[in-house]
Amino acid sequence: MRIKSLRKIRFLLPLLGLCSCGPTQLDRPLVVASFYPVWFLADAIGGDAIDVENLTPAGTEPHDFELVPSAVRKIADASLCFVNGLGMEAWTDSLLPSYQKKTIILSEGLPTQSVDGAVDPHIWLDTALYRQMGEKVLSSMVQALPSYAGEFRANFASFCADLTEMEASAKEIAASIAGKPIAVSHAAYGYLCNEFHLKQIYINGLSPDQEPTQQTMTQVLDAIASYGIDTVFFEELASPAVAQAIAKASGAKAESLNPLEGLEEDEIAEGATYFSVYLENLHKIQEAKP
Ligand SMILES: [Zn+2]
Repeated sequence: MRIKSLRKIRFLLPLLGLCSCGPTQLDRPLVVASFYPVWFLADAIGGDAIDVENLTPAGTEPHDFELVPSAVRKIADASLCFVNGLGMEAWTDSLLPSYQKKTIILSEGLPTQSVDGAVDPHIWLDTALYRQMGEKVLSSMVQALPSYAGEFRANFASFCADLTEMEASAKEIAASIAGKPIAVSHAAYGYLCNEFHLKQIYINGLSPDQEPTQQTMTQVLDAIASYGIDTVFFEELASPAVAQAIAKASGAKAESLNPLEGLEEDEIAEGATYFSVYLENLHKIQEAKP
């Protein structure tokens, strides 16, 4: 009955001068997510039942990213809008009051850490917190789209199994990296460092575009020398210039490390996921000295 009426609507739309906008939008509810790790959760749990779109394009750094008008229209059309919160999405202050009912802030109520007195928004790098963010995605989807509840629950169980498997692989690496200092371009790894007992030496603060002071540069160079650090980690989605300059000045090599704020299109096409990149990061940290 439903299929028949949908077909009828599609047949009528051109006659009315309207675009049918493709079969998926008519068939499946739309859910939007603010940037990669939020999208990855929503997409894993939504599965084939719904469309889940990432509001931040692939290859774009989400800190201070402003939504394009087509993304704003998608929020208006969506059943739910998932965001990380904690100041990660600059656009939420101006936009979300209009869409408060459909917006789910995944960090709400979760324990947080701080960096230089400011709340650290990079909570998705703590796998236990990431699982809790997933629980919120699940309960919101079940509530908003109850006819798909069975599929959402099955997808969440499968996501949790994958996450548990990844955590088991991470545990095998954990002992070999415990206590290690890592030099990174921006302070995105506080939760990861907490989970694996690493010491984060950061050039920029919580935002990758922050300019480091001369004093910070000197402190980082001193730390690299005193710990015998041989690798300075930069990010693919932010400017690597400062990290590369520090690496050059200290004689260390520059290597990429991905805080999972986003992936490049070719990485996604090659099958990279939250799980694979997370483990790749740990392997890179394992290889870096000391
Ligand atoms: Zn960041």
